[in-house]
Amino acid sequence: MSCYNCSEPRVHCSPGQLFLQPLWDRLRTWEALIQSPFFSVIFSITTYVGFCLPFVLLDCLCPWVPALRRYKIHPNFSPSAGQLLPCLGQTLYQHVVFVFPVTLLHWACSPALLPLDAPELLQLVGHIVMCLLLFDTEFFVWHLLHHRVPWLYRTFHKVHHQNPSSFALATQYMSVWELFSLGFFDMVNVQLLGCHPLTVLTFHVINIWLSVEDHSGYDFPWSTHRLVPFGWYGGVTHHDLHHTQFTCNFAPYFTHWDKILGTLRPAPV
Ligand SMILES: [Zn+2]
Ligand SMILES: [Zn+2]
Repeated sequence: MSCYNCSEPRVHCSPGQLFLQPLWDRLRTWEALIQSPFFSVIFSITTYVGFCLPFVLLDCLCPWVPALRRYKIHPNFSPSAGQLLPCLGQTLYQHVVFVFPVTLLHWACSPALLPLDAPELLQLVGHIVMCLLLFDTEFFVWHLLHHRVPWLYRTFHKVHHQNPSSFALATQYMSVWELFSLGFFDMVNVQLLGCHPLTVLTFHVINIWLSVEDHSGYDFPWSTHRLVPFGWYGGVTHHDLHHTQFTCNFAPYFTHWDKILGTLRPAPV
């Protein structure tokens, strides 16, 4: 039986827990930071900008390093400063003005409690896969609805389509409603599944990475859709097609929902 959440000394930890325990013990030394009301927003912004910066750098290098262009989905496109700065500015503005007050309210109502014990490795992996599948399903429904109902598209989703050739910093260029919807889907599944805080942090990091990769405009040999077998994962090439054609590939990550509903369009080889 797992000793997850117990406050007694660890005597029955499984090998799966022991594997993650050193990492969790290390993270718990920053308990004060993790439990502070600013942690969620700082974590979210720094992870997002940290994942975007390498792609921004590649975009700056692209005109001078032709070899990089073979990995670009649109080889002749590089975002200008006039496109990058408004995206970054809007992300910072929305996080400070809208996201921070909500996370502050959540912190005041339910302060984060960090258990002594790490989660089971298999449980962490299983929860992350389930969270990704649930997030993919929820956003697929939201996304399809916001394309099929013209008022919803015009009012809430159109802003995300202002950059037909997407780039990393355009990932979170969206209306406040879309940002909150994504944040809600991101949070609700970990609550429903009762995920360990380490699982929650890991899922957030993976989710932010996958969303940035989806918009990066780069199709590398190590891109996630090339690592997942049987075409189960659409990734950057599929989402780029959604940005250029509007009528297909509504799921952000996986391909099964678009396959079932006939909205899947394979990316050109
Ligand atoms: Zn869309
Ligand atoms: Zn997008």
